[in-house]
Amino acid sequence: MKGIRLDSVQEFDVLSSTQVIIKEALQKLGYPEAMYELLKEPVRFLTVRIPVRMDDGSVRVFTGYRAQHNDAVGPTKGGVRFHPDVTEDEVKALSIWMTLKAGIVDLPYGGAKGGIVVNPTELSFRELERLSRGYVRAISQIVGPTKDIPAPDIATNSQIMAWMLDEYSRIREHDSPGFITGKPIVLGGSHVRETATARGVTIMIREAAKKLGIPLAGARVVVQGFGNAGSYLAKFMHDAGAKVVGISDVYGGLYDPEGLDIDALLEKRDSFGTVTRLFKNTITNRELLQLPCDILVPAAVENQITAENAPNIQAKIIVEAANGPTTREATRILTERGVFIVPDVLASAGGVTVSYFEWVQNNQGYYWSEEEVLAKLEQVLVRAFSNVVAMAESRGVDMRLAAYMVGVRKTAEASRYRGWV
Ligand code: NAD
Repeated sequence: MKGIRLDSVQEFDVLSSTQVIIKEALQKLGYPEAMYELLKEPVRFLTVRIPVRMDDGSVRVFTGYRAQHNDAVGPTKGGVRFHPDVTEDEVKALSIWMTLKAGIVDLPYGGAKGGIVVNPTELSFRELERLSRGYVRAISQIVGPTKDIPAPDIATNSQIMAWMLDEYSRIREHDSPGFITGKPIVLGGSHVRETATARGVTIMIREAAKKLGIPLAGARVVVQGFGNAGSYLAKFMHDAGAKVVGISDVYGGLYDPEGLDIDALLEKRDSFGTVTRLFKNTITNRELLQLPCDILVPAAVENQITAENAPNIQAKIIVEAANGPTTREATRILTERGVFIVPDVLASAGGVTVSYFEWVQNNQGYYWSEEEVLAKLEQVLVRAFSNVVAMAESRGVDMRLAAYMVGVRKTAEASRYRGWV
């Protein structure tokens, strides 16, 4: 088998940096160069133009994307984000990450992702509905419960999923709840979907702490970002007996070595996940990351832990709730320093896992209790954690590369069996 060369891709943007690790993972697993050629980009990428009648009678035309990374394992799955900075490369990279997450938690899916270039805060409720429906009409030929299943992502929520479901069901002329996940419970949504990512991160923290022999009760936790992922997570850690000593949002951070009152902060936070502006004694996000603590959870934005601040991080465990918070160089520095990292593609896989449960329930027409969903989530994520740790230890690689190796292997094997490579 011909080996894969690593020198041809530079680490300079989200797609390229993902491709670098995919290449390294496939090389370590012994796949030929052709496998990398197949998996470095989505097999299908659709760009659409969506005309929307605005409330004032004018028409605005929006650009949308849908990337389907690889469908060798089964239908593809991934969220749709509404953001003014959405780019083709970002959507492509995120679709690859979805393949990795699905592979790591062993779901019968390949990865996908979608996006619309829009600032949703500038649109009225009805304009948002028309845009959501227009997107579904534009991509309807390539999506469906056995083809490609969308879900929420940045700035999209259960209401938007409900409009998208309704539009798809009208086009197909039958109810089709398995077309999309993250729906309201009355339309076939699943229990736990809303908090699934934070639940998953909580399980990862517990498993990592167990592995390092750090008791969770009393462990000092710092969480960067107090939005959907970070705030629920802070609450779950607080409830588990850990001491959440630091939290932050885009405006700054709060620190109390005795532990913050998370319930009070949750009450005060707004829907954008901001709360620190209400306080005088704040610290910067930069200071927050370097606080003395046992467990650090970046749950905000990408590129927060870099080669510059990695030597000063005091945490023993970093669990990445955010996508891409740690650079490759920082990962190397931290791993050398003995810091245990649970990488994003593993740590935040709780969301897609409960999305899978939602799809299964829709296909069966039989719905599970909250306890059943939580028990199944626990089982899936504990197994995924131990598979990635086993890969890291048996192959002598860092946790990020191990997660990519576990994640890409299923799709690579399925592609090989199908005779594609
Ligand atoms: P969110 O918008 O609800 O919250 C983001 C939080 O980060 C807010 O508190 C915001 O103030 C803060 N923030 C924004 N920019 C910041 C900056 N430059 N410095 C410090 N803080 C900043 O978002 P979310 O849904 O909680 O997602 C957070 C991260 O988790 C993202 O990377 C997202 O991709 C990832 N993630 C989320 C989910 C999910 O289900 N919510 C699933 C997988 C991954």
